[in-house]
Amino acid sequence: MHGNNNKQPLVIANWKMKLLPEQAFDLAKKVKKSSAKYTGAEVVLCPAFTEISAIANIIKGSELKLGAQDCFWEEHGAFTGEISPKQLLAYDVHTVIIGHSERREHVQESGDMIHKKIRLLLSLGMRPVLCIGESFDERAEGQKEVVLLQQIHAALDGLWLTDSNQLVVAYEPVWVIGSGQDIDPHEIEHTHQVIKQALGDIFTSAVVDEHVKIIYGGSVDPENVGHYMRQNSVSGVLVGTVSLDATQFSAVVAGAIKF
Ligand code: PEP
Repeated sequence: MHGNNNKQPLVIANWKMKLLPEQAFDLAKKVKKSSAKYTGAEVVLCPAFTEISAIANIIKGSELKLGAQDCFWEEHGAFTGEISPKQLLAYDVHTVIIGHSERREHVQESGDMIHKKIRLLLSLGMRPVLCIGESFDERAEGQKEVVLLQQIHAALDGLWLTDSNQLVVAYEPVWVIGSGQDIDPHEIEHTHQVIKQALGDIFTSAVVDEHVKIIYGGSVDPENVGHYMRQNSVSGVLVGTVSLDATQFSAVVAGAIKF
C-alpha cells in the first residue's frame, strides 16, 4: 500500500539526446503498440525537443503522455535557442523534467535557474519533475542528505502548490545513473522519507500527500523495478537507458504496475 497520493505508478522515459528522428519515431510506435497493456500506470515519454511534434502525432489515441526534458524560465521573448513551456503546451506536453544532473553538470544549471523554471511551470498548471541527487563523493563524505536538502530548498523555497498543481520529485543518485547498478531499496525508502519530510516543511504534509509524487531514477530495469516500487514512498520511476528499448521498457512498466 502506498502511503501517499499515488493512485497509479508514474513511469517517465527520458530519451536524452540518444536518438535520431527515425529511431525515436520507431521507438514511439513500438511503445504505443505495447501501451494497451499499461493500464494501471501513467507513462510519459520525454523525447528531444526536435521530435516532440512528430511523437505527439504518433501517440495520439493512446494513453501515453508526452513530456519534455527541459524548458526555459520565461514564457516568451528574445531568448535564442530556448523553448518556452507554452510552446510545449501547444503539443499537449504537461510534464517537464527540470534540473537533471546532466544539465546541472554540463550546462551549469543552477538552483536559481531550476527555481525559476519550476515557478513558471506551476504558474501555467504544468507538472515539473524536479531531479535531485548526490554524487558518489558527496555520499562517501556523508553529505548525501545535506546535498538533497540544499537542492530541494534552492528549487522550491518560496513556491506554493495550488489545487491545480502537481509536482514530481525524482530522486536520482548521480553515481547510479547509467551505471547498471542496483541500490538497496531500503536506502531508497529512507532517502524518500527524508525528501518527503523536507517537502512537508515547505508545503505542509497534507499538500505533499495531495500534490506531490516522489519517484526514483537510476539504472531502473525490469529486474529491480519491483523492489523499488514495493517501497512505501516510491510512487514511480524515471528511466533512462532501459527506456530506449521498447521490450525492456514495457517490462519495466509491467513491473511497476505489478510490484
Ligand atoms: C536518468 O538519466 O534520468 C536515468 C535514470 O538514467 P538511467 O536509467 O540510464 O540510469
